[in-house]
Amino acid sequence: MRAEIIAVGTELLLGQVVNTNATFISEELADMGVEVYYHTVVGDNPKRLEELLELADTRSDLIILCGGLGPTDDDLTKNILAEHVGVPLVQDQAGYEHMMSFFKNRQHPMTPNNLRQVETLKDGIPLQNRTGLAIGCLYKGEKNNYVLLPGPPSELKPMFIEQARPLLQKEFPAPEKLISRVLRFYGIGESLLVTELAELIEQQTNPTIAPYAKPNEVTLRITAQSVDETSGNVLLDQVESEILAKVGEHFYGYGEENSLEKVTVDLLKSRDLTVTAAESLTAGEFQSTLGSIPGVSTVFPGGFVTYSKETKASFLDIDRSLLDTYGVVSKECAQAMAEQALAKAGTDFAVSFTGVAGPEEMEGKIPGTVFVALAQKDGETLVTENHFSRDRSYVRHSAVMKGLDLLRR
Ligand code: ATP
Ligand code: MG
Repeated sequence: MRAEIIAVGTELLLGQVVNTNATFISEELADMGVEVYYHTVVGDNPKRLEELLELADTRSDLIILCGGLGPTDDDLTKNILAEHVGVPLVQDQAGYEHMMSFFKNRQHPMTPNNLRQVETLKDGIPLQNRTGLAIGCLYKGEKNNYVLLPGPPSELKPMFIEQARPLLQKEFPAPEKLISRVLRFYGIGESLLVTELAELIEQQTNPTIAPYAKPNEVTLRITAQSVDETSGNVLLDQVESEILAKVGEHFYGYGEENSLEKVTVDLLKSRDLTVTAAESLTAGEFQSTLGSIPGVSTVFPGGFVTYSKETKASFLDIDRSLLDTYGVVSKECAQAMAEQALAKAGTDFAVSFTGVAGPEEMEGKIPGTVFVALAQKDGETLVTENHFSRDRSYVRHSAVMKGLDLLRR
């Protein structure tokens, strides 16, 4: 079954309201195994809504409309749909009674236009509104099926979950379920990842593979269609192992909520290890990122922000002659910062950051030149030289991500 969602409301087109109803309904439908092919927004305009319904009829089996069920003249979704399918509107008794008892207990009087809210399409199945007044409707047409829902999310959500969803599942039992999994990658750009996986992505119809780029990382959403969750997961496992065989070296975790910082902190927690940091160009951004993870205090006792040469010497006791000889944008400085931070904090690891965030050059090094080092209580210090691109804030973010990646490996 192909579905589409039409959100009605000029306020959506003006950017005053975000179309969260479409997101919500899409997630619900995906969970029900119904594929959504289109999201559209149309203003409170009868002609354009009618045109859109004609188009929707040609391409969708299930057309879900939300918004414009209120009492005012600009609320016309129900009237347009009734005209479109050629049935009159009739008063719904249960909705009417709910409205009467609502107004009985209120100070404001009911106005005649409120009655429009309890009208429904003749021969449609009314959907009662537990948290408001305007009733919705499921209308089964000859070729297409329509669902009408109110605009306010506080009314739409309970109506969909409690009434529309069970009804739809009964009327149109889904043969298939959609199951998704998100794989997260660091250290590979979207275009390279897609190139590496080009053949797989092209051949793959079930599960499908959808890449999505975020700052300094890429995610792949793999989605399987199957009769049940178990067989869906088998399909996902298969394609996941094919993906990881090609780009597994850059894979770091699953799920929207498992950011690189979360995965890294979780790993340290599970191994009972601690970390400190000494930051120059990132000026505490790495430590602040760690701090965004709840419960990080068990692995991160604190650290250093040493922006100038003076504080590198005075806070961390780094030899001034080393700083003068090699400069602060150097491998040697990064190594000394990490090792001194480790010694001072007594942690298992210390990460250090020094480099040029830009826009100006420093010590003859171009912006984006960043040294990130990892000192370890039981092991050698690793020092990486990086050349990050884009602007100052992106360079600093890239450095933080690199530090997390070093730490988690
Ligand atoms: P009402 O009886 O409140 O007029 P209605 O069914 O006529 O309800 P609208 O007038 O279209 O709905 O929208 C009412 C409010 O609901 C909007 O001002 C907005 O805050 C919210 N809303 C409408 N459509 C959406 C949407 N697609 N996503 C999120 N919120 C929405
Ligand atoms: Mg309205």
